[in-house]
Amino acid sequence: MPGAVILCGRGSKRFSTCSVCHRPCATQLCDYVRRVGDVGHKKTCDAALCISCRYTPDGQQDFCPEHAKMIREDVSAPLS
Ligand SMILES: [Zn+2]
Ligand SMILES: [Zn+2]
Repeated sequence: MPGAVILCGRGSKRFSTCSVCHRPCATQLCDYVRRVGDVGHKKTCDAALCISCRYTPDGQQDFCPEHAKMIREDVSAPLS
Protein backbone atom coordinates (compact mmCIF):
# COMPACT_ATOMS: atom_id res chain seq x y z
CA MET A 1 0.00 0.00 0.00
CA PRO A 2 1.51 3.35 -0.99
CA GLY A 3 1.76 6.33 1.26
CA ALA A 4 3.41 7.11 4.52
CA VAL A 5 3.29 4.67 7.34
CA ILE A 6 1.43 6.20 10.21
CA LEU A 7 2.92 5.34 13.53
CA CYS A 8 0.82 6.04 16.54
CA GLY A 9 2.62 4.40 19.38
CA ARG A 10 5.57 5.19 21.51
CA GLY A 11 8.86 3.46 20.94
CA SER A 12 8.72 0.01 19.48
CA LYS A 13 5.42 -1.08 20.95
CA ARG A 14 3.29 -2.74 18.34
CA PHE A 15 -0.38 -2.00 18.00
CA SER A 16 -3.18 -3.87 16.41
CA THR A 17 -4.76 -2.64 13.23
CA CYS A 18 -7.81 -0.53 13.93
CA SER A 19 -10.91 -2.24 12.63
CA VAL A 20 -12.40 1.12 11.64
CA CYS A 21 -9.68 3.21 10.01
CA HIS A 22 -7.19 0.38 9.46
CA ARG A 23 -4.27 2.29 10.82
CA PRO A 24 -1.90 0.28 13.01
CA CYS A 25 -2.92 2.30 16.02
CA ALA A 26 -5.43 0.26 17.93
CA THR A 27 -4.97 0.26 21.67
CA GLN A 28 -8.46 -0.73 22.77
CA LEU A 29 -11.00 -3.42 22.07
CA CYS A 30 -14.72 -2.91 21.79
CA ASP A 31 -16.30 -3.92 25.08
CA TYR A 32 -19.78 -4.31 23.75
CA VAL A 33 -21.28 -7.57 25.02
CA ARG A 34 -23.40 -9.50 22.62
CA ARG A 35 -25.16 -12.74 23.27
CA VAL A 36 -24.06 -15.69 21.25
CA GLY A 37 -25.90 -18.93 20.71
CA ASP A 38 -28.88 -20.25 22.57
CA VAL A 39 -27.54 -20.62 26.09
CA GLY A 40 -27.02 -16.98 26.85
CA HIS A 41 -23.31 -17.20 26.26
CA LYS A 42 -21.82 -13.76 26.18
CA LYS A 43 -19.01 -12.59 24.01
CA THR A 44 -17.53 -9.17 23.59
CA CYS A 45 -17.23 -7.56 20.19
CA ASP A 46 -13.46 -7.19 20.56
CA ALA A 47 -13.11 -5.00 17.50
CA ALA A 48 -9.72 -3.33 17.62
CA LEU A 49 -10.05 0.41 18.03
CA CYS A 50 -7.64 3.29 17.90
CA ILE A 51 -8.01 6.29 20.13
CA SER A 52 -9.67 8.25 17.31
CA CYS A 53 -12.29 5.66 16.53
CA ARG A 54 -13.33 4.48 19.94
CA TYR A 55 -16.35 5.79 21.79
CA THR A 56 -15.97 5.92 25.55
CA PRO A 57 -19.25 6.97 27.15
CA ASP A 58 -18.19 6.40 30.75
CA GLY A 59 -14.44 6.64 30.45
CA GLN A 60 -14.01 2.95 31.14
CA GLN A 61 -15.56 0.98 28.35
CA ASP A 62 -14.69 1.40 24.71
CA PHE A 63 -17.03 0.79 21.86
CA CYS A 64 -16.67 0.60 18.11
CA PRO A 65 -18.73 3.09 16.07
CA GLU A 66 -21.31 0.46 15.21
CA HIS A 67 -21.98 -0.41 18.82
CA ALA A 68 -21.64 3.17 20.00
CA LYS A 69 -24.52 3.97 17.70
CA MET A 70 -26.58 1.14 19.16
CA ILE A 71 -25.85 2.32 22.68
CA ARG A 72 -26.75 5.91 21.92
CA GLU A 73 -29.99 4.85 20.31
CA ASP A 74 -30.90 2.64 23.25
CA VAL A 75 -29.78 4.57 26.26
CA SER A 76 -31.88 2.53 28.62
CA ALA A 77 -29.91 -0.63 27.96
CA PRO A 78 -27.50 -1.58 30.71
CA LEU A 79 -23.88 -1.59 29.68
CA SER A 80 -22.94 -4.64 31.64
ZN1 LIG B 1 -9.18 3.95 14.01
ZN1 LIG C 1 -18.19 -3.38 18.72
